[in-house]
Amino acid sequence: MLGEARALPGEHDRNFVFEADDGQRFVLKIAHAGEQWETLDLQNQSLAHMAKQVPELHVPRVLTTSAGQATATIKGSGDTMHLVRLLSYLPGKALAQAKPHTPVLLSNLGKMLGTLDKALVNFTHPAARRDLKWDIPRAGWIRDYLHYIPSPDRRALLEQLLGHFETHALPLLPALRQSVIHNDANDYNVLVDYTGPDHTPIVHLLDFGDMLRTQTICELSIAAAYVMMDKVDPLASAASLVAGYSEALPLTDAELSVLFDLICARLCVSVTNSAYQQQIEPGNSYLTISERPAWHLLEQLAKISPRFACYTFRHACGMVPSPTSNAVVNWLKGHTAGIGRIVEPDLKLENVPVFDLSVGSPELGNSLEPGDMAFTTQKLLSRMQAAHSPVGIGRYIETRIIHTNIERHKESNDGPAWATIHLGLDLFMAAGSPVYTPVAGIVHSFSHDDETPGTGPTLVLQHTVADGSLIFYTLYGNLSFDSLIGIYNGMPVEQGTQIASIGDEPPNDGLPPHLHFQLITDMLDRQGRFPAYALPGERAVWLSLSPDPNLVAGIPAARFPVASMSKEQILLSRAQHIGSSLSISYRQPLQIVRGSMQYLYSEDGRAYLDAVNNVSHVGHCHPHVVRAGQEQMAVLNTNTRYLHEKLVRYSERLCSTLPEPLRVCFFVCSGSEANELALRLARAHTGQRDMIVVDVAYHGNTSALIDISPYKFNGPGGAGKPPHVQVVPMPDTYRGKFKSDDSQAGEKYARFVQEAIGHIQEQQRNVAAFISESLLGCGGQVVLPSHYLQEAYRHTRNAGGVCIADEVQTGFGRVGTHFWAFETQGVVPDIVTMGKPIGNGHPLAAVATTPAIAASFANGMEYFNTFGGNPVSCAIGMAVLDVIEQEDLQASALQVGLHLLHELRALTNRQPLIGDVRGLGLFMGIELVRDRQMLTPAPEQAAYIANRMRDHGILLSTDGPFHNVLKIKPPLVFTQHNADELVSTLDTILDEDMAQP
Ligand code: PMP
Repeated sequence: MLGEARALPGEHDRNFVFEADDGQRFVLKIAHAGEQWETLDLQNQSLAHMAKQVPELHVPRVLTTSAGQATATIKGSGDTMHLVRLLSYLPGKALAQAKPHTPVLLSNLGKMLGTLDKALVNFTHPAARRDLKWDIPRAGWIRDYLHYIPSPDRRALLEQLLGHFETHALPLLPALRQSVIHNDANDYNVLVDYTGPDHTPIVHLLDFGDMLRTQTICELSIAAAYVMMDKVDPLASAASLVAGYSEALPLTDAELSVLFDLICARLCVSVTNSAYQQQIEPGNSYLTISERPAWHLLEQLAKISPRFACYTFRHACGMVPSPTSNAVVNWLKGHTAGIGRIVEPDLKLENVPVFDLSVGSPELGNSLEPGDMAFTTQKLLSRMQAAHSPVGIGRYIETRIIHTNIERHKESNDGPAWATIHLGLDLFMAAGSPVYTPVAGIVHSFSHDDETPGTGPTLVLQHTVADGSLIFYTLYGNLSFDSLIGIYNGMPVEQGTQIASIGDEPPNDGLPPHLHFQLITDMLDRQGRFPAYALPGERAVWLSLSPDPNLVAGIPAARFPVASMSKEQILLSRAQHIGSSLSISYRQPLQIVRGSMQYLYSEDGRAYLDAVNNVSHVGHCHPHVVRAGQEQMAVLNTNTRYLHEKLVRYSERLCSTLPEPLRVCFFVCSGSEANELALRLARAHTGQRDMIVVDVAYHGNTSALIDISPYKFNGPGGAGKPPHVQVVPMPDTYRGKFKSDDSQAGEKYARFVQEAIGHIQEQQRNVAAFISESLLGCGGQVVLPSHYLQEAYRHTRNAGGVCIADEVQTGFGRVGTHFWAFETQGVVPDIVTMGKPIGNGHPLAAVATTPAIAASFANGMEYFNTFGGNPVSCAIGMAVLDVIEQEDLQASALQVGLHLLHELRALTNRQPLIGDVRGLGLFMGIELVRDRQMLTPAPEQAAYIANRMRDHGILLSTDGPFHNVLKIKPPLVFTQHNADELVSTLDTILDEDMAQP
């Protein structure tokens, strides 16, 4: 039996979905009155063919009548007759609404279309030979309709693209393979569901109404046209689709060379058709549904070189991107003896230094301030001087960030990206040094300006070799402006002649004078300019367009340092030599090679906004802190058994940030060591051993601290609570027993401390200490309710115990209103432990306590700590305090934190997944729930978001007992602008289908 019918949208036909008693769903398709039986038979036969050939394909199945017919007839209104069919229902949401279009999803779509087309290669049907306006080879019909497009600019755009299609693609089409294709894989005919293993997106295809026999490549072209819409980088999206398609059905050279033109032609048809339809049917929104994004895409595509697109597609299919690349490389390899010099000095000499200008190179020094290349310049020049070499080498395929400050970053489909991969070879030499022609040729083009980062005034020579069958280009950048005077395009240049000289203006990448020398296999119709750096995502294509210039320069391979380890090699070695209980963040691990203030840089030069590493409190590698450490390291580093002024000055300064009577410091090397010592102090002072801890707390990695860390002893691999430890519930007013609307919540939660003391005393023992963070970090960034610590401390002290504030995460101005987070609770602890931010990443930590407790600890046993309090650590600790003060970072934490809190709370109105936003200053948590009433935790979504934020270049982490809290605790140099970036990126990601891998 079929249940109730629900109407589905459709352009011409009426479609209804039914659910049978057994839960199976079907679609009843009632064709419009003019529909031909043969056309439906084409669909039915092809679907039956696919069901047999590729039963795994997600396309509809045709159900037959009891008489075995796939198409039946029903009577409509009046005398009209309609053809009806029953198809199986396909689940999922339209690709147009699925977010994001990940490479995996697009590749799966490509694979499904390739599989479908492969299955249809041997399928024929008389009705497949149809004249359809959507058949791309017939796109020329729109020429007569272009006047329906009101804007002259837009008409010109279509004429440009259509012109290229007609002159370049159309003549090649007759020779391309043909077959019956679906011909309409638009983003409403493609459905996506995430029920596959690991939520792998499964792709379904429906609506076979536009099937016809045509060039097979049209199938992919149509899907690509839709997949590329609304993308920052449409070519990258199309490449994923092409990669999947070619896996199932390999593409030919000729097909790949017309693909881009066919995509453009399809879009031209689409927008022209909709302009025409709007004239005759104003108000039909279905027909114009894809007009706006199609126009935007056309404008994007007009700026892309069709050959670059072709090379990108070739790469997606596993081919060499630039078709002449191998031939150029082979020709140069075979003619080394005949190639002349580029510059005067002999580059083969052993003393020629090869520099490391990669992202993580110490040669770049500490500062990444725009234009501040003085350190590097000095370093390079002095290395050349020391080596008595007039020339130094900058490497090809080196990942650099030094130029990125002069080039606006680009956007990728996943947030910002920077062109960082150096495509040339740099020859650092004195300004004015002559540049020679290594191979005879003609001047192809030149440019006087210095718009292209890294190349300055530039000359390009064209070389025609191998009896005229092969052309390649050499590019000379950072030339002197004057040396280009008198040069004209087409000017012949003999091998060995001086063609220019190195510029005397400083090159626009901030480096000392150098020739940027680059090899190019296809100028992509550019004149005088060519990218000197490639985006990591386009690396293979650009490296094929610009092969190794050393094929001309001839520097011996041994002169280049061994390549650094790849991510895969590091992972492999880690697996062998590093304990596997050390975890790695993110599904796609990050290799970080440099830090600067609130940014971390990966090996490919991408900048990540760090919203999670509170250790780098005043900013990664803050110059003042770095200098303090370096200077002291060069003078003395030893232990506290010798008198040193820095130790006492630092302890005085640290104590001055604390309330009385916290006047005694111990310096150690980690937060764990600090808490370990705090336990010993408390136990020595009280003579007791029992501890009261807050649930889900983490206090450190030593045996004694695992015992007081419910996060660990109740977590995976934990051995449970030891008898000497009492756990009190987290005073969590969002999820706990007493909520934020209870003004007595703090006092009520603190009563659990009183109860715990009772349990200890029942066993004839007493409490040594109550330990708590001043905001609960691992517990999920929980802000303590008012009076909680006051009351908990009162109970503890009444029983003779001491109170420990673990400020390892929260201290040093992070909470904004106060320097120490315990101050927000109006208490003075007996012991304060500090770590993480105290040394801005240097292994420094401390315990501050009262003279009385310190005295109890001094029972005759020496406390010795080899590294704790050494002069280098003290210099660094002092420098951190300097920066907090000088840069007013506590005030900034307050201001930026309030702004961020406000913006995140505003997001709550639109994003149902956000259950709670809480925090003080720049210590914040976003708790994600699937249901705001039930508070059902959303850990999978939290993990998804952290990973996607990372994809978009923003680092966060997750925590909390249910792993559903996003943690935000950035370096305090985090700005309001950074906060806005975080919020808008989070907003975008919250809109995504979060079931995706
Ligand atoms: N206490 C708290 C609250 C912490 O978060 C941590 C570290 N996550 C520690 C102590 C231990 O510090 P460390 O890792 O430096 O030993």
